[in-house]
Amino acid sequence: MKKTTRRRRKPKNERPRLRKELDVASKRAAKDRDGWRCQHCGIAVAGHGAHGSHVIPCGQSALLRWDLLNLLCLCFKCHRYWWHLNPLEATAWFERTYPERYAYLMQRKSEVKQWTTDEMRELLRTLEAQ
Ligand SMILES: [Zn+2]
Repeated sequence: MKKTTRRRRKPKNERPRLRKELDVASKRAAKDRDGWRCQHCGIAVAGHGAHGSHVIPCGQSALLRWDLLNLLCLCFKCHRYWWHLNPLEATAWFERTYPERYAYLMQRKSEVKQWTTDEMRELLRTLEAQ
């Protein structure tokens, strides 16, 4: 049977696209803030060697996924072979190095957040204007 009505849709793939753009923009803003230096070993980083590392993993907190206080510029080596292989040590280091940020993240990490598309667009504009 022929369809007579069509559902009006929002632009296809907008939310996945916004999520990707927010991931890129938030990591870029964190690297700018950190002066494109690994915050653990201090070497200058660029391009694919510069990693934006989440303190609270984005799978654990939608609220903190694009929060710059939850992002850290690390070099590839420190991210892959220190941060992710020694989570307890890395967390203790983070707490010592950034006590206020650590307290903020611990306080907010269990807050539930569901981003509306408008909020995502607004945050992207804010991050891209930085
Ligand atoms: Zn490093």
